[in-house]
This record gives sequence, C-alpha cells and structure tokens, in this order.
Amino acid sequence: MSLLVVGSVAFDALESPYGKVDRALGGAATYFAVAASFFTPVNLVGIVGEDFTEEDAEIFRGRRIDTAGLERAAGKTFFWAGRYLENLNERVTLATELNVFAEFKPRLPENYRSAKYIFLANIAPDLQRDVLQQVNGKPKLAALDTMNYWIERTNAELRETLKHVDILMINDSETRQLSNEHNLLRAAKHIFKMGPSTLVVKRGEYGAMLVDKRGVFCVPAFPLEEPHDPTGAGDSFAGGFMGHLAACGNKSDASLRRAMVYGSVLGSFAVERFGLDRLRHLKRGEIYARARHFAKLTQFKL
Ligand code: AMP
Repeated sequence: MSLLVVGSVAFDALESPYGKVDRALGGAATYFAVAASFFTPVNLVGIVGEDFTEEDAEIFRGRRIDTAGLERAAGKTFFWAGRYLENLNERVTLATELNVFAEFKPRLPENYRSAKYIFLANIAPDLQRDVLQQVNGKPKLAALDTMNYWIERTNAELRETLKHVDILMINDSETRQLSNEHNLLRAAKHIFKMGPSTLVVKRGEYGAMLVDKRGVFCVPAFPLEEPHDPTGAGDSFAGGFMGHLAACGNKSDASLRRAMVYGSVLGSFAVERFGLDRLRHLKRGEIYARARHFAKLTQFKL
C-alpha cells in the first residue's frame, strides 16, 4: 500500500559536539520518504528551488519513492540551521528560511489522490491540510508531525488541521507546548480532544511512547555509544512507523507496537552519522537484524 507524504525538503546547516556541516540535504519529508521506502512505496509532495541539483535528487533514485509531486520552482530550497547541545537531546534553531515553501500551492498528481496512508510531515499546517483535502475518500490512517516553529506561529491553523488526523507524532517538548501540560499522559488527554485518537511522543535517547484509548506502549531508543547527529531522527522514526503500517495494511494493537519498534530502529540508524549519510547506505537486512536486537533488548520473564 503506497504512502503519501508532504513536508519539507531542505538544506540544513548542522552543528553538534561531534562536528559541523554547512549544507547537508535534509528536510522532514526527505528523511521520512527514505526511511518509509524500505517498507512500502512512497509518494512525495513538496517543493525545491533552483539550487536543488540532480545530484541532490539522487537520494530518491533507486528507491520506491515517486517524486512526481516534488515541484521545482524559481528561488531557493527551504533552509534550516540548528545546533545541538552536549546532551544531543536539546537543540537550538539558528535559522529557518521557508524560501520556495512560502508560496507553495501543492497540487497532487492524479495517482496520489487515492492514498489510504498519509503522513503530514513537518511543514505549515495549512499546507498539510491542503494536501489532505485533495485526497479522495477517507484515508485509513492520517498522521501528523509538527514543531515549535508552527505551534508558535500558526497555532489556530494547526488546531484546525489536527481535527482531521488520527495520529499525532511529536517530541516531548512539543507535546508539552501544544497541550500546556507537563505530564505526558495528561497531555495525551488534551490532545485527544483536539482530534487525534493516538499520540506518539518521541523522546530522543529515552525512546518513544504511544498512548491511545487502549493504554500506553513504550519502546526504548537503541543504545548507541556514539550518536553523531539527531537531525531527522524523528522523521525517520515516523518513516519506519508509517512504512510498517502501510505495508501490513492494518492498525491493530500488535501492528502499532511493531510499528513503534521499526520507528525506533530507523531513528537509531539516522543518528549514527550526519544528515542522511547513514540512511543513504542502509540495507533492509540491517533493519531486520536491529529489530531482532530490539526484541532481545526488551524481553524479560516474570
Ligand atoms: P527532526 O530532527 O526529525 O525534527 O527533523 C529535522 C528536519 O526538519 C531538518 O532536516 C529540517 O530541514 C526540517 N525542519 C526544521 N524546521 C522546520 C520547519 N519549521 N518546518 C519544516 N521542516 C523543518
């Protein structure tokens, strides 16, 4: 089952205690699409500028990623700069330049419109809703990610978009910011009133937590001795999570739990190198081997 994604395709400037890059290919939809394509075909909606070269587009080639919905426009590609603190869990945004995204009016190619699995990756909530509205019929599963930038600047638009999605997938500080609740379980109750029936909280090195009406499920982050760059970990998590659900075609409790593990597996690979460097060379066999490792990591007898 193919998976539709809209979100940023970007150039990032990244700084972490492990190094610095001035211009790396990134963007929420890029990380998501690459991660999800290991599980299922992906239809990508986004926009890039004239500075986005054929070499940049190589990241999508040879994978199950349809880029018919990736528009090229006059102007510059979305640019983001961020710096990670010593603990890698906290980051400071140094620059966000929307560039071609500021005027983007997405138009879904005809073959994208029957999408049943949709991921609204991090981008302006109005754009996310616009894409959702162009899909024919009700999707089986629509999930959304966002970040402080949009929670602060476009809160009303975000709340409107949230009414139409099933799963909200954000990090812990965004959960607290959106709900005005410090406790994540209480935050989930607030968020359920906004529309989504499931909340997935990404907690960096502490793993991830899924809350729905059936209860709570947690996965750890894969313990890594030398994480390098957390950029895109959340989007890669989302790619593994949604990719698995679209591939298995259902949202049973067991599938959601497995999706959490595949999310954590893809997130763990993303942080091993700067930018997309690790995902670029990742093999399917490595994904399944790490998933088995996860099972061992969390198994115990009572
Ligand atoms: P993550 O580390 O998973 O939260 O995602 C990082 C990616 O999000 C980077 O590659 C950025 O290009 C992209 N990004 C940063 N800020 C924004 C924003 N305000 N809207 C959309 N994408 C963004």
